[in-house]
Amino acid sequence: MNANVHELLNQQINKEFYSAYLYLDFSNYFEDVGLDGFANWYKIQAQEERDHAMLFYQYLQNESQKVTLEAIAKPDKEFTCHMDVLKAGLEHEKYVTSLINDIYAAAYEDKDFRTMQFLDWFVKEQGEEETNANDMITKMELFGSDPRSLYMLNQELSARVYTAPSLVL
Ligand code: MG
Repeated sequence: MNANVHELLNQQINKEFYSAYLYLDFSNYFEDVGLDGFANWYKIQAQEERDHAMLFYQYLQNESQKVTLEAIAKPDKEFTCHMDVLKAGLEHEKYVTSLINDIYAAAYEDKDFRTMQFLDWFVKEQGEEETNANDMITKMELFGSDPRSLYMLNQELSARVYTAPSLVL
């Protein structure tokens, strides 16, 4: 494997674990303010991010490439209201999309078709993640200022259940 592609894939393990940590921090925020449905939604999101990290880990293992685990950064976002959390989520997903695109570009440049095929799943996944993050903002804009609507939105989000990723390595 090309050294740059390898380095970027290895870094992505850390970025995905950081994503999990960030969403756990979101979940923690919502738990503190009593919105347990939002807390549930982000706790499951954190679980998905751990799955993503393990997919990058497993891909490198399968390719007999060395994995180097680095320290996971502290979640660094500050929130003064619910909307701040949701906007930080969208901003973060756009950043992750740019990371996936950068790895894809490096693999493309090296004609590393296997890595490109592996990344295809993540390209699609990032589209869904950005849509979900946008939807959360839209719903909060529509319903967040009315307590009864916010209660029902919280109920809706409490129904989210964890499902394992469709990509299996
Ligand atoms: Mg992810």
